[in-house]
Amino acid sequence: MNALITGSGCSSGQEDPEEENDLLPGGWPVGFLREHFQCLRCGNCCRWKGYVRISLEEIEVLAEFLGMETERFINEYTRLLPDRSGLSLLDKPTGECLYFDENKGCLIQEVKPKQCRDFPFSWQVPGWDRICEGGRALRRFSLRSEETAFLKPGKRQESEKHGE
Ligand code: SF4
Ligand code: SF4
Repeated sequence: MNALITGSGCSSGQEDPEEENDLLPGGWPVGFLREHFQCLRCGNCCRWKGYVRISLEEIEVLAEFLGMETERFINEYTRLLPDRSGLSLLDKPTGECLYFDENKGCLIQEVKPKQCRDFPFSWQVPGWDRICEGGRALRRFSLRSEETAFLKPGKRQESEKHGE
């Protein structure tokens, strides 16, 4: 999971009634996602190349969870974001998150960064709903639902073309 990315087994975002009808970049209303999206724990968001931003507060919690000194964790298990605005978790050489396990999913599920917990409710990447199994299921559901008026015609036709 990464790409400005997230994690296996993402939880739902924070409830904020004012945002319920806001459209996310992919065209999904926040409220619809909160009501219908279900993470299917495919782990694809943990395999994407990108960055998992982590705050200093989150680093302290994670380091304690791993039984490690905060300074050592920062030095050995984080990297600077390209714009130098903060730190990111390290990736494996394959690009997937260091804490993603093919069989167990996220190894730090209890303390994973906010960026991971917020996906796809607060941020997304283009085409996320074709890669994320929960997003793919939502597309199939929405094509059968009367609640899909928000889907742009182009997006709907494209979905039908791909048989989703
Ligand atoms: S911290 Fe966990 S949820 Fe976040 S990208 Fe890594 S494996 Fe996925
Ligand atoms: S279903 Fe989506 S949010 Fe859940 S692990 Fe897969 S890609 Fe990530």
